[in-house]
Amino acid sequence: MSKFMNEKYCRLEAYTPGEQPQDKKYIKLNTNESPYPPSQGVLDAVNTDAVSLLNLYPDPECKDLRRTIAERYTVEEKNVFVGNGSDDILNFAFMAFCGEDSPAAFPDISYGFYKVYAELHAIPFTEIPLNGKLEVCVRDYIGINKNIFIANPNAPTGLTLSLDDISRICESNKNNIVVIDEAYVDFGAESSVNLTKKFDNLITVMTYSKSRSMAGARLGFAIANEEIIKDLEKIKYSTNPYSINRLTNLAGIAALKDNSYYVENCKKIIEAREYTKVELQKLGFELTDSKSNFIFTKNSNIDGEMLYKKLKEKGILVRHFSKDRIKDYVRITVGTKEQMDALLAAIKTVI
Ligand SMILES: *Cc1c(COP(=O)(O)O)cnc(C)c1O
Repeated sequence: MSKFMNEKYCRLEAYTPGEQPQDKKYIKLNTNESPYPPSQGVLDAVNTDAVSLLNLYPDPECKDLRRTIAERYTVEEKNVFVGNGSDDILNFAFMAFCGEDSPAAFPDISYGFYKVYAELHAIPFTEIPLNGKLEVCVRDYIGINKNIFIANPNAPTGLTLSLDDISRICESNKNNIVVIDEAYVDFGAESSVNLTKKFDNLITVMTYSKSRSMAGARLGFAIANEEIIKDLEKIKYSTNPYSINRLTNLAGIAALKDNSYYVENCKKIIEAREYTKVELQKLGFELTDSKSNFIFTKNSNIDGEMLYKKLKEKGILVRHFSKDRIKDYVRITVGTKEQMDALLAAIKTVI
């Protein structure tokens, strides 16, 4: 750290992204990317003509993209916000709606960025413990008068909340926002999008990074009440109005037009997930009933960190978290059936 660093950031603990090794070819099952490439429409959209216009700034309003998203989710354009990855949107939500007098709350085991954003902006926060089965316990969120951030399905457990539960949380915290982070919703949870028409405090956040094979393009979106969207726009226009570049803009539109391709890929991933769960159980693994594109699992014969290391030696990357409550586990992204077979074969030699 230089002597110039602002004192308020000196003790900030930044988010640690999963490894993105550039040196050797791994079977990459550590950051929940899709094993499938973007659709043909996306490849066609990002063409030489599009690249040759990169001398010009992109549309800061992202009108075409927002209209396409609005049509897909049967909301209006004014209910759609787009950001440079959903991480950007989550950050904006912390900035726009939380503060010293408006604390945040999220599960103790969840997406690690919630805590980082709260600390970045000096927002008081409560980490609400998952129950013994690693589930979000809805009654712990009823009427707590805090801004609530919940991933549904949750990460890294893959467990889901019902729309009834989400409604109860929104209904009982009317003076605060409720952010439902649906990064993994396409793999088996019910989307809260339609509830945004009923609750003016609900923000549904989604991403192109997981089910839409576009982690490298950085694109996320939020659906909410018009006033909420305006607030997010205000933060965007106060930081970086051009946060969605031209190529990502075009790719985002094209991906939604090829919806059936992505639905098909999700189906394959869900099949591979259920297959891998059964095979892991045969090998003595315990796991949560993940409805996501990852499996969260442990085996009493080998600790999580050791399993992670041994698999890495064999060219397979999975994710291990050192947090005490989940340090026995590893999180394994669901890839293709072939990748899962390679994983299972490697695990058999390790345990
Ligand atoms: C991957 C992930 C995100 C971040 O997605 P980007 O759109 O790539 O920024 C947000 N929330 C959760 C729970 C995630 O797992």
